[in-house]
Amino acid sequence: MPRAFITGITGQDGQHLAEFLHSQGYDVYGMVKGQSNPRATQLIEEMPYVELLPGDLADLPSLVAALEVAQPDEVYNLGAISFVALSFSQAELTANTTGLGVLRMLEAIRMIGGTQNNPIRFYQASSSEMFGKVREMPQTEKTPFHPRSPYGCAKVFGHDITVNYRESYGLYACSGILFNHEGPRRGIEFVTRKVTNAAARIKLGLQHELVMGTLDTKRDWGYAGDYVKAMWLMLQQDEPDDFVVATGETHSIEELVQRAFAEVGIDDWRQFVRQDPKFYRPAEVDLLIGDATKAHEQLGWKPEVNFEDLVSLMVKNDLELEAKKAGISLAT
Ligand code: GDP
Repeated sequence: MPRAFITGITGQDGQHLAEFLHSQGYDVYGMVKGQSNPRATQLIEEMPYVELLPGDLADLPSLVAALEVAQPDEVYNLGAISFVALSFSQAELTANTTGLGVLRMLEAIRMIGGTQNNPIRFYQASSSEMFGKVREMPQTEKTPFHPRSPYGCAKVFGHDITVNYRESYGLYACSGILFNHEGPRRGIEFVTRKVTNAAARIKLGLQHELVMGTLDTKRDWGYAGDYVKAMWLMLQQDEPDDFVVATGETHSIEELVQRAFAEVGIDDWRQFVRQDPKFYRPAEVDLLIGDATKAHEQLGWKPEVNFEDLVSLMVKNDLELEAKKAGISLAT
């Protein structure tokens, strides 16, 4: 059985990827950090087939030790401080984990290596946030980077060092430049889940308003379940390379709010929404729209869930979740 090692296993993408790789017949190992990590406890219950190993992207010896146990064919580096807003207030931690963590993982792979005939293949979770103040539209693998947050800067380092180790040491190392990808497992701090959860709670009478930052920025939102397949496909090619993964459609935060409220039958969403500057960021990424032609042509990858279906599945999930928590029965 092929063996995969995933950092960030307790996050949205880690869970989707673990499920997918398990369905493909992989032995799945996941790295978890910290003591008494509640997300690790939950993962053990939900995915008993995943073997968890302790480790931290800020601690090279722990990465080496984890790889020694896992002996993976493939390493997926999804671990990061991943919330852009938090990266402004914890910039050094973000640089260390999200940026330098990639370097440490690459060094650990060089040390463990895998067998000569079967070297370890590495996937780095790069991000559309690297494009930041975009230099062209749509953004491709060749678009120059102009990050707008400590998170974006750290991701640029992670991306560049992955390319550098591929070129310097011949590692099989790929970077997936993934545009925003969402789903029911998205953390509540991200705008999609915050909005779908609020729409559900307002519909159920559990919440009376939704306090937002800007409604003007635009994102290319896809479904996380589709995007983890692109990660895997990248590591199945003859040669390592970098790929943009995106839907090619962009929508504003306002459209997201409108769509989510429409999903619960509320047309006049403005009466529930208030804006507060505390959610504004020191610098913004105004507009992202990706061109995934290379992934379509070379990987045969295409997204299956569009924006409307994504919002709909997230709102439905939040309605069920919130109704269950509050002991409300939903009319069928
Ligand atoms: P990001 O693209 O990785 O920063 O993903 P987010 O989901 O955190 O934010 C997407 C966009 O939504 C950004 O332009 C935010 O400024 C904007 N936004 C507006 N209001 C909010 C809010 O209340 N929470 C979050 N997370 N983002 C918001």
